[in-house]
Amino acid sequence: MNSKEIAPQIHAVIGGIFPFCNTLVILGEDLLVVDPGCSIESLRRFLATHDKELRDVGTVILSHIHPDHITHAVRLNRLSGCRIAANEITAPLFNEKERMKEFLGFHKANPVRKPWENLVNERMYGALDEGQIDEVLKNGDKFQLDDITLQVIMTPGHLPDHMCLEILNYNLLFAADLDCTEFGPFYGHPRSSIDEFKKSIKLVQGRNYEGIISGHLTEPVVTNYKPALEAYARQFDIREDLVHSAIIEGARTIDDITMTPIIYPSLTNPVFLQFEKWMVEHHVSNLIAIGLIEEKDGHFKEA
Ligand SMILES: [Zn+2]
Repeated sequence: MNSKEIAPQIHAVIGGIFPFCNTLVILGEDLLVVDPGCSIESLRRFLATHDKELRDVGTVILSHIHPDHITHAVRLNRLSGCRIAANEITAPLFNEKERMKEFLGFHKANPVRKPWENLVNERMYGALDEGQIDEVLKNGDKFQLDDITLQVIMTPGHLPDHMCLEILNYNLLFAADLDCTEFGPFYGHPRSSIDEFKKSIKLVQGRNYEGIISGHLTEPVVTNYKPALEAYARQFDIREDLVHSAIIEGARTIDDITMTPIIYPSLTNPVFLQFEKWMVEHHVSNLIAIGLIEEKDGHFKEA
């Protein structure tokens, strides 16, 4: 069984790396699922071992709008009539998938929109289905489930709508995509922000949790999370240095810089190349802002 008991009634069903994620399940009077992006079979098998079925799910909470986190939300709603909760930024995007696509940078004129939709439909089927959020959450809102209290903590950067959930009874944090993976932080959309991401990491590091639950590690509970997040955040600097040295060595455009991949080891897939370009663009903007490079007529050079 690919799941882990985190505390009494609280389990993670392991989805692991993209295009899956770890799904938090709370087996209460109301059956609650956070981020239903593990495989549907894993979730079904996990529930079966606790004499439950997919149609017993009562509530789904979404940490943010990414397809690998919302994957089965609409399907679970169709099966069980469960309510779906999300924060005030995620909600309108979930309710209207065209807005979600534009929010993620895949507006109609983007040539990578179709390959991205194909990737989502092949690997995260259901994420683009139209659905409806029933309960809108705000920063600091509490969510009660039997004796267990969850509290929303907004942690933007990865995307503007990214939130974590504190599990107050056990002093744990469901950290979603503040995931402590070796890959490092993902900010591959125009509206992602490195600055906001760093602030969110600092916010979590400033709290004294028993542990944080990663949305993508196969061993999901990180107890030693302060140094783990420090190592994770180091990727921002490593990548920024690589972008800077590419420009010093003569790269003049985003296309030049991404000729040699910096973030993804291989860029044969146009969707990942798009993510890489957006992440590199964020670093270029930073380098311009701090005066290390300058831009003229769409070309970069050392300042
Ligand atoms: Zn995400």
